[in-house]
Amino acid sequence: MNFRIPLFDLNYGRVEDGAVLKTLHSKWISMGPNTKRLEKEFASFLNVKNSVAVTNCTAALHLALKVLGIGEGDEVIVPSLTFVATVNSVRYVNAMPVFADITSVDNFSIDPVDIEKKITPKTKAIIVMHYGGFACDMDAIMKLAKRYNLSVIEDAAHSPNSDFKGKKLGTIGVIGCFSFFSNKNITCAEGGMIVTNDDALAEKARLLRSHGMTSLSYDRARGHSADYDVLELGYNYRIDDIRAALALVQLKKLEGDTIKRKKLREYYLEELAKMNTIIIPYKDNKFGSSNYIFPIVLKNSDFKKRDKVRQKLAKAGIQTSVHYPAAHRFTIYNELSTTLEKTDYVSDNVITLPLYYSLKKKQIREIAEKLNRYLKEDKNEKD
Ligand SMILES: *Cc1c(COP(=O)(O)O)cnc(C)c1O
Repeated sequence: MNFRIPLFDLNYGRVEDGAVLKTLHSKWISMGPNTKRLEKEFASFLNVKNSVAVTNCTAALHLALKVLGIGEGDEVIVPSLTFVATVNSVRYVNAMPVFADITSVDNFSIDPVDIEKKITPKTKAIIVMHYGGFACDMDAIMKLAKRYNLSVIEDAAHSPNSDFKGKKLGTIGVIGCFSFFSNKNITCAEGGMIVTNDDALAEKARLLRSHGMTSLSYDRARGHSADYDVLELGYNYRIDDIRAALALVQLKKLEGDTIKRKKLREYYLEELAKMNTIIIPYKDNKFGSSNYIFPIVLKNSDFKKRDKVRQKLAKAGIQTSVHYPAAHRFTIYNELSTTLEKTDYVSDNVITLPLYYSLKKKQIREIAEKLNRYLKEDKNEKD
């Protein structure tokens, strides 16, 4: 189906075209100089010591857990209102994900109070996810981490230009993981980044990114005779220089993209202000947000009503989505039989409205007007 107003649109132009062609013509298309430059510029943008580019954020999360030595018998506390990759990554290292609820129906961030309830002697780490680019309560979470000696991994897939009290998200925990998937704020189709201030962890991630193979210079320094050695069971999680070229251009556009998205969010807030049938999460957010998505939650609703409203919007040419179907309710996590009341309500009643660089105010007015109308119709049909 072709939507008049899509959920997301790429912020791509001639500069991206040129960057790709230049890389193709250079004849070096796999990981190389562009990747190095991307890592350098991304680290300096975030003001973090190390960054390691990888093939996607899922690989970044896997490597993060791996380099922290998390494995069999360990537990990792995770949100459920997230993309399933956050949770799956824990299973890749044979550890157990333990779900924690969100803070409230208007704050989708993982709840520090529920995190503390879920800590056991087996808990080794917490993965937080900064939903939509809005910061989790990192003061409370880092305090817990310190008290119980846990590592904090930030799934910063939504938040490449967000902060918490002036600190860029992704740089507060021990490791931050970013995504450059096609609908993210920075995109190169598929891509990801690991950032950390810990040199040893970065070194290890670099090694595991490419088969656990030592580099030539590293090899020489250690006096090996062979061309390379393999130190650990690594993976092929390399990005390529065509994608790195795209990500470099997108990184340069990020600040402008963030400013525009902030304005569009403010416009949504104005247009939706009078609607008492919905909740707008993070309304009082005080920190810088990349505004990856614009979610709303229907009041006094259930998934049937939500789906009906979404269908009407779709018929009117407006694409919406659901961020997210709760991970703990998927078949593979059913056996953990977790109940998360607030996550369940949001998962059943959230609607993600369109938000992207080239979205127009006029389109936001139309979305708000239609949403209001369809919710009123639903009420009248019931009365
Ligand atoms: C997109 C996303 C991921 C996965 O990123 P990929 O780069 O597609 O692997 C992980 N976590 C969250 C919260 C995401 O939104």
